[in-house]
Amino acid sequence: MSDSIPFAGSPLDREALRRRDRAWLEAQAEDSASRYLPLWRLEPLIKKGGDTALAWARSEFFEDLDPRPEPVLLGTSDGVAHFAVDVSGVADPASAFGVADVASFEELRAAAGRLSGGDVAIAGQARSLVDWHARHRFCAACGGGTRSVLGGAQRRCTECEADHFPRTDPVAIAVVGRGDRCLLGRSPGWPRPMFSALAGFVEAAESIEEAVRREVLEESGIRVGAVRYHASQPWPFPSSLMIGCIAEAESEEISIDPAEIEEARWFERDEVRQALAGDAGDLVVPPPFAIAHHLIRAWLDEDR
Ligand SMILES: [Zn+2]
Repeated sequence: MSDSIPFAGSPLDREALRRRDRAWLEAQAEDSASRYLPLWRLEPLIKKGGDTALAWARSEFFEDLDPRPEPVLLGTSDGVAHFAVDVSGVADPASAFGVADVASFEELRAAAGRLSGGDVAIAGQARSLVDWHARHRFCAACGGGTRSVLGGAQRRCTECEADHFPRTDPVAIAVVGRGDRCLLGRSPGWPRPMFSALAGFVEAAESIEEAVRREVLEESGIRVGAVRYHASQPWPFPSSLMIGCIAEAESEEISIDPAEIEEARWFERDEVRQALAGDAGDLVVPPPFAIAHHLIRAWLDEDR
């Protein structure tokens, strides 16, 4: 199941052991076969034309830049190292590097539908890591400068030597069922009649189950009992992990928090089935790009 979730399933080997070896990392940086995915203001470089794919570059693409950006190791494929490199310092990089006719920097959410699943996962990893490095140049403990270590898998403070790890923010997201109906909500500004699973960030010292119960109660007034994990999705905007659950309601009367959502409703099983089939009536559900789609389908497919 999780293999079909967009942004998961990268074909690269992250090389968690070998990236600790500085000599191995230096050899990859010097190897002319190594490939680099340029990102400009978090937008990956993507080939133009019918064969939509990530546009990988050689190190010549960026090595004359001043300051020279530091590549971040994404992993290897068939022994070839793949890096992400942040070229945000260049005003018009596609023209500057002479690739404007064959490739362009594109917002990942807009381009993801045209990329393979593997490319979407790689671009998501690159986007999250490049964004994290750009935001963590200083130590949160002492304010000293930090430097990239382990090929970019961590940053280390140059003053107090504290290690800093790329952040991942857990979000609990749940389809709440009660018999033949499920609870879905919509946020202000969504296109009508789109409804989705309720979601919220997991807070400090809170389990996933507790986060689901708290968020659903806050947003809809519905009390939740059993919570079951179903699947998760990396969501690199900038660095969330969507933890998808199916939950059971213990109450039925909806009372929304208008600061959080615009509307919440119970939907009948047949209505949900039609919406998943793309037969829009009073309900449109998110596309397979979002884990909510997979959660809604899983709830529908459950035997009961
Ligand atoms: Zn420090």
